[in-house]
Amino acid sequence: MTQSPAISEPAQPLLGKSLEDLKDWVQSQGQPAYRGQQLHSWLYQKGIRSLEEITVFPKIWRQNLTAVPVGRSQIHFRTVAADDTVKYLLRLQDGQIIETVGMPTAKRLTVCVSSQVGCPMACDFCATGKGGFVRNLAVHEIVDQVLTVQEDFGQRVSNIVFMGMGEPLLNPANVVAAIRCLNQDVGIGQRSMTVSTAGIPGRIRQLAQHQLQVTLAVSLHASNQPQRQQLIPSAKTYPLSALLQECQDYVQVTGRRVTFEYILLAGLNDQPQHAIELAHHLRGFQSHVNLIPYNPISEADYQRPSRDRIRTFVEALEERHIAVSVRYSRGLDQDAACGQLRASKVELAISS
Ligand code: SAH
Repeated sequence: MTQSPAISEPAQPLLGKSLEDLKDWVQSQGQPAYRGQQLHSWLYQKGIRSLEEITVFPKIWRQNLTAVPVGRSQIHFRTVAADDTVKYLLRLQDGQIIETVGMPTAKRLTVCVSSQVGCPMACDFCATGKGGFVRNLAVHEIVDQVLTVQEDFGQRVSNIVFMGMGEPLLNPANVVAAIRCLNQDVGIGQRSMTVSTAGIPGRIRQLAQHQLQVTLAVSLHASNQPQRQQLIPSAKTYPLSALLQECQDYVQVTGRRVTFEYILLAGLNDQPQHAIELAHHLRGFQSHVNLIPYNPISEADYQRPSRDRIRTFVEALEERHIAVSVRYSRGLDQDAACGQLRASKVELAISS
């Protein structure tokens, strides 16, 4: 009986590895370094799901590579909204399900990626937060979401927002590694990426040290500490003043302005006095306020403010020279709020 040559499998899937790492890996398999370049372009440009698909590799070697994991997910569910937004539930290797969204406009294709399965932050208005936390996503599981949307649309992804399930700054090493991979290996500009965080003490300052060119978006959602900790439980141990100071440091270290996200909840944080208070905090701050009218979720009974109320809030900020825009969520007819699609489909699966 002839023994087949030993294959030293990479501990991690290949997706997420840099060109240099891939060259090292093919050489460890007894192949010349240029095969690493080929592997890189088939992984990131052609979007292969198995190494057997790499027809430029010698057949004999390919047959030995069948067990080497690439790290791609399966589309478990896909739904298209009236505005052409496509929402996906992706099934990971261990059976966990995450949400990813593809949002096309005339010039862009933006992907909303998840950074965790579930989320431990438990924000009161968020469907993901209501569902609890399972685990962090690995680098390849973040990169895969972008490749999946790219493949499904047959179009290059131009922008990435870390606004899906999870808190990116509770998974910082993998999020930063995924940003580098998406930038260097997939070819998406860092300035076209946004990391959204509810704020974790010390982590914004740490992110700044990586000297990335990504936009930082901070989920502020309130203009004072008591209201903020009512909406975001973890804010109890993170005073608003400390959060804002870290954001100032981020601007100073990176030279990039910060976006402040602010969910508008009718009768709660949408009054003129809140706009005035917010403007006071942000005076002279290199920042931009992104107002998000609340997307109703079944687990909470907040209301979305009227258009008039939203306009009044915008005007109050503008009068105080605060840069502001309103983000109307995409795909509203298809469980638009973060984590809602997964919650409704998992429920469906249980009840059917
Ligand atoms: N954990 C990160 C990123 C994920 S949530 C963060 O908190 O920023 C992305 C954005 O969607 C956040 O600003 C979040 O507060 C917002 N969001 C969550 N549920 C929402 C809802 N029901 N309506 C409107 N925005 C929501």
